[in-house]
Amino acid sequence: MTTDLAARDRANIIHPYLPASSTERVVMTEGRGSRLWDTEGREYIDATGGLWLAQIGHGRAELADAARAQMAKLEYFTSFWEFSNEPAIELAERLVSISPAHLERVYFTSGGSEGNEAAIKMARYYHHRRGDTNRTWILGRDRGYHGGGIGGSSVNGFSLYHEGFGPMMPDVLHLTPPWPYRTELFDGQDCTDFCVAELERTIAELGAENIAAMLAEPIMGVGGMIVPPADYWPRIAEVLHRNGILLIFDEVVTAYGRLGSWFAAEHFGVRPDIVVTAKGITSGYLPLGAVLTSGEVGEVLGREHGFPVGYTYNGHPTACAVALANLNIIEREGLLERATKIGDFLAAELRGELGELARVGEVRNQGMMLAVELVTDRESRQPLPGIQQIADTIRADNGVIVRDAATALVLSPALTLSEEEASAVARAIGEVLARTEADGTVRPRGTDSSGAR
Ligand code: PLP
Repeated sequence: MTTDLAARDRANIIHPYLPASSTERVVMTEGRGSRLWDTEGREYIDATGGLWLAQIGHGRAELADAARAQMAKLEYFTSFWEFSNEPAIELAERLVSISPAHLERVYFTSGGSEGNEAAIKMARYYHHRRGDTNRTWILGRDRGYHGGGIGGSSVNGFSLYHEGFGPMMPDVLHLTPPWPYRTELFDGQDCTDFCVAELERTIAELGAENIAAMLAEPIMGVGGMIVPPADYWPRIAEVLHRNGILLIFDEVVTAYGRLGSWFAAEHFGVRPDIVVTAKGITSGYLPLGAVLTSGEVGEVLGREHGFPVGYTYNGHPTACAVALANLNIIEREGLLERATKIGDFLAAELRGELGELARVGEVRNQGMMLAVELVTDRESRQPLPGIQQIADTIRADNGVIVRDAATALVLSPALTLSEEEASAVARAIGEVLARTEADGTVRPRGTDSSGAR
C-alpha cells in the first residue's frame, strides 16, 4: 500500500524543498492530539505542529462540525466589493477584540504568503495615498522568512529564495538579525545597540522619505527561532515611528497562542501598524490568514475605491467559521496559559536531556516555540552541518517529528502536548544527539558515542 502510494506520489507531486536525493515518502493517514499515523501504521509524535500551526492538536471533531454546518448553509461567496458574510464579520470582530487595542481592521487572506504580499502593498499604498509617493523601500533582515510570493521572497533573508528566481522585487534591504548567541555579528557591541545604529544609518543613507516599512518576524522562526533581546523591539519601533516608517509584524507563526499570548506584539510591548497572521488562526484545519491594521492604516486603505488587492478566497465563510471554532477551543481550554507552562516544561526536559551534550549550543524557548542550537563544539560555536539528517534520524529511529531550521532543530508542538509526550520528545532528541559526531554524522545505535561528554 505504502509502496504504491509513494510511487504515485513520486510520479505526480512536486514537493516544496524535497531534497533531490530523497526517494522516501511518509504518507500520513490520521492525526489525534499530538500523534500522527502513517500508512504503515507507524505512530509519530508531531513536535512541529505540522508547520508551526497545530495549536489545538489534530483530529478535533468540533472543527469538522463547524465546517460541515457552514458548508451546509453557505460554503462560499465572494467578499469583493460590498459583499460579505456572517462568519467573516464575526471573526473580524473577534480578532479586533483579542488583538492590541490599536488594531482595528482585518483583511482576510488564504495564508501567510498572501498576507505578506498584501501587507507590503498596503504599506506602499498607504504612503502613496497620503502623497508620500517615494516611500517604496522595504526593510527586512537576514534570516527572515515571509513566504513564497515574490514580495515576501524578496524580503526573505536567505539566498535560497533569491537564486534562480530573479530579478527580485527592487527596493528591499536586509538588516542584521538580533541574534545574541552569534556575538560575532555585532562587532563586539551590544546586540540591540548595533541593530539600532545600523537601522539609523540605513535610514540616513536611503532617506526616510523613501522607506515604506520594515517587515519582520517578532521572533524569527524559519531562520532558527531567533529571539531578540527584550529592548530590541521597543527601540527599533521607536526609530521607525520617528521616521514615519510603518512596522509590519509577520506573526504568521507567533500569533494565536504559540508564545503564550494572542499576539507577539503584546509580548514585546510594541504597536506594529500592520500584523500578518495565518496558521494558528485555524490550527491548520482550513487555509486562512488575516492581516490586521491600525485604525489609521485601515482608514486610509478604506478610502475611495478601497484597497485594490483581492483574492478569491478573501473572507471565506467556511474557513472563518472554522477559525471561530478554533479560537473558542483556545479560549475554553486555556491554551495561552498552557503554552507557557508546557513550553517551559518541554524546554526544561530538553535542557535536562541535552545539557551535557557536546553538539548542543543552547536550548531556547518562548512558550511553545523552541530551538536546540547545534554546534560542532561549544567553544567555537561553529554551526553543525547535516541538521536535516539529524531530524530525519530522530523521526526514523524514535518516531518524533522535529524540523531543521538553519542552524537549529526547531519545535512547535500543539499547545495541548502532554507532559509525558514532552518528555518523550526530549528523550528522542537526546538519544540521537548523543551519537552525533562533530561533522554532523549520526553513529548507528549501539556504537560508542563521542557526542556525550
Ligand atoms: N511568514 C512566516 C513567518 C512563516 O513562517 C511562513 C510559513 O512558515 C509564512 C510567512 C508563509 O505562510 P504560508 O506558508 O501560509 O503562505
